[in-house]
Amino acid sequence: MTLAINVAGYADPALHAHGLYIGGKWEKGAGIPVINPSTGDVLAEVADASVEDAARTVDAAEAAATGWRDTPSRKRAEILRRWFELMSAHSEELAMLISLENGKALSDARGEVAYAAEFFRWYAEEAVRIPGEYRHAPSGAHKILVDHEPIGISVLITPWNFPAAMATRKIGPALAAGCTVILKPASETPLTAYAMARLGEEAGVPAGVVNVLTTRNPGPVVNSMLADPRVRKLSFTGSTGIGRVLLAEAAKSVVSCSMELGGNAPFLVFDDADLEAALHGAMVAKMRNAGEACTAANRFYVQAGIHDAFVKGLTGRMAALKIGPGCDPATNCGPMITQKAVQKIDNLVSDAIERGARATTGGAPLPGNGYFYPPTVLENVPVDAPIAHEEIFGPVAPVYKFTTEEEAIRLANNTEYGLAAYIYSTDIKKALRVGKGLETGMLGINRGLMSDPAAPFGGVKQSGLGREGGVTGILEFMEAKYYAVEF
Ligand code: NAP
Repeated sequence: MTLAINVAGYADPALHAHGLYIGGKWEKGAGIPVINPSTGDVLAEVADASVEDAARTVDAAEAAATGWRDTPSRKRAEILRRWFELMSAHSEELAMLISLENGKALSDARGEVAYAAEFFRWYAEEAVRIPGEYRHAPSGAHKILVDHEPIGISVLITPWNFPAAMATRKIGPALAAGCTVILKPASETPLTAYAMARLGEEAGVPAGVVNVLTTRNPGPVVNSMLADPRVRKLSFTGSTGIGRVLLAEAAKSVVSCSMELGGNAPFLVFDDADLEAALHGAMVAKMRNAGEACTAANRFYVQAGIHDAFVKGLTGRMAALKIGPGCDPATNCGPMITQKAVQKIDNLVSDAIERGARATTGGAPLPGNGYFYPPTVLENVPVDAPIAHEEIFGPVAPVYKFTTEEEAIRLANNTEYGLAAYIYSTDIKKALRVGKGLETGMLGINRGLMSDPAAPFGGVKQSGLGREGGVTGILEFMEAKYYAVEF
């Protein structure tokens, strides 16, 4: 395959396309600049789809729908498996592309590509295991047969923080289920999505099964697709605010919704925790993607007996991180996605400091053209400060002291979110007891990383609806059909 253009002088031509991908055709287009957050430079321009383009894309997804639904699941699985292999073979170019347009450190970008590709491998394996049911009606009158059918054309909307993984986590199960899809990636990070679509084409994904649209006007463009009766599924990953807007919009046509929304993860450290393990886990849970992760530890609740040692250890580790351009292999902490994101973090930190918090490292934005905020630890943070209630989405670790187990659970649950939580304790019985009390969809016990394609990912409360990944992820793209059979 010929991989087109260079990105900003990188000698190895990246997997790179700029135009809409509709019905297996690459269209020319421009209008949305893609910025390198490490420098503020424009990397490329991608197409700006209109409502009319969206309608053509639904036509293309519809034209491919019957053929794909009727493709044997073994064949669908083999295409997904080839896509996994191609992503793995092109992992360095993809990682560089992610790093350039998102800013994340190359090591994080490599981790993302491996994680993202795994969704294709996992769903290649799940495609041939779609479940059904056969039961006897309790009345004895008939038999109950339950089949699962592809739900239909699916609109997939993804955020900028994991431009590859958030797309494969949706495309993998949708294709395995037999659905055709329209992917709308975030405007900040469209290049990765287009690059992956190129690999999908090479893997043998038929024309129209996967379509990619970028637009400056996500509201009207997505709303027009949701209003089209041929679209039956919306799978969204992004902020809770936009999620609420989309749920209301989808309600008008009663479109099935899976929502992966914001988080405000508590990280609980008990006196009996292994300090080194807790610090290691804290760095993983806080600093993957420089804190720009929905599962990022957003509030550190540390028991009084271990509090000071934890703050000291965390401060040392955070201060030692190397800040720099994402694509520099020496970088541990890349830039934030935009200057606006830096400003938001700065406001939260400044406000906490005004309320009595103390920065033991970091605490103010860094000058320069890129959008840098340094790794920061805050101690003595009041539990009612806005930083305890909003997603920081940056490299800032606010630490709060607690005394009792009950207090820790109450503080941890004091949020509208319920995506992820972490507990460090060597008393596993206590960890499980506390875990039971936490309002969360996912829980790391003595572990700072929980994402796994083989596990159900998702949140409770205002963190979302439904689960991605695992054995149930494919059912988000299927409808149960019940046959009452008498014989
Ligand atoms: P966002 O602002 O909600 O945007 C997410 C996506 O929605 C983007 O593609 C965006 O397009 C699109 N969008 C914006 N307005 C829309 C509208 N009116 N109609 C339809 N689509 C619209 O979120 P973000 O800033 O990209 O991502 C960060 C958020 O995602 C955080 O809250 C984070 O916690 C959450 N997240 C959750 C998970 C999870 O699995 N739960 C995973 C990752 C991230 P444009 O880019 O063109 O505006």
